[in-house]
Amino acid sequence: MNARWHPPLVAGARVQALVDADAIAHNLAVIRARANAAMPAPRIWATAKADAYGHGLALVMPGLKEADGIAVQQLPEAHACRAAGWQGPILVYGGLLSEDDLALLDLPGLHLVISHEAQLDWLSAAPPRPDAPAIWLRYDGDIRLAGFGREAYPRVYARCEALAAQHRAGAIGHLSHYARAEDEDGVAEADASFRQAIAGLPGPVSTCNSAALLRHPAHVAATDWIRPGIALYGVSPLAGVDGAALGLRPAMSLTARLFAVQTLQAGASIGYRSAFVAAHDMRVGLVSCGYSDGYPRHAGTGTPVLADGVMTRVLGRVTMDVMMIDLDGVDHAAPGMPVTLWGTPELPVEAVAASAGTIAAELLTGLTARVPLTARL
Ligand SMILES: *Cc1c(COP(=O)(O)O)cnc(C)c1O
Repeated sequence: MNARWHPPLVAGARVQALVDADAIAHNLAVIRARANAAMPAPRIWATAKADAYGHGLALVMPGLKEADGIAVQQLPEAHACRAAGWQGPILVYGGLLSEDDLALLDLPGLHLVISHEAQLDWLSAAPPRPDAPAIWLRYDGDIRLAGFGREAYPRVYARCEALAAQHRAGAIGHLSHYARAEDEDGVAEADASFRQAIAGLPGPVSTCNSAALLRHPAHVAATDWIRPGIALYGVSPLAGVDGAALGLRPAMSLTARLFAVQTLQAGASIGYRSAFVAAHDMRVGLVSCGYSDGYPRHAGTGTPVLADGVMTRVLGRVTMDVMMIDLDGVDHAAPGMPVTLWGTPELPVEAVAASAGTIAAELLTGLTARVPLTARL
């Protein structure tokens, strides 16, 4: 019998995601220590877009108490942060999505990222207010998902100054996001071009996602606000390095149940397309999770799983509701046993993502409404 800790399952749950706010607080402290190694130390926008990378905004909030601000994608999420008790600044990466969003600006401590001129047109129709939202102008950089290029930047900055003079905008800052922060040569050029674009324009600067913070510490001293996301949730953004190696703790574990044990004879296949064929007589476990829960269908034979703490592997094709696992070596396997699919130090979500040919963030944000999120107490 293996005595290692495994997440408990509530009665009746097929699959359950357990969210550990303490792990998030720990990860934030690790990030803070790295930021504090820079002089002067930048402040931290804790990135919690996509419902806190799938962990549930309200569930992670207790772990983010020490953040300097929280960053989300759209304005409704900013209001959800306030409703969940966050009193500090809130940065909205997507700024205004349409003119309708003007109705959502009544939120003290709001910061908007501005990435295209229509957003400034809409803001000029906003009623002036003493606590108008601060603005972060986004530089398009080398990712070019949004933002202003070097030619447009000074002119757009002047438009923001005019809005600030009318009390339709507050303070103005500069924001840049890297396309290749995980690479050794991934930020130097992009950063130099950003610094040229903002030269002579006053205001604080925000750069550095998790990868830039971990891979390019020299750049951290040159920024006023860093914007870590994935590392807060215990996941490494760097290839070949898992969160544990960076001192991070997984913030979400995903657990299902073994509900049946089958014997497969040598030469017999199992599952759709008969994708797995037994080389010898073996025992196979059926587990109550599938791609309709958000487990990746592309995780094929060999993807690691923990059957009641014992490391084993996925077999064949993951189906809509059920997946198969190898029970060789899991001698005490019996129906009802918990099977952890990711989120322990020995089974990080990074490992499942690598097996499925994707990134951990896609798995964490891809759990479906079938999977209850529960706080780990
Ligand atoms: C998502 C996001 C971040 C955080 O990125 P991670 O790679 O998760 O650390 C930072 N800045 C912007 C603009 C983002 O969209």
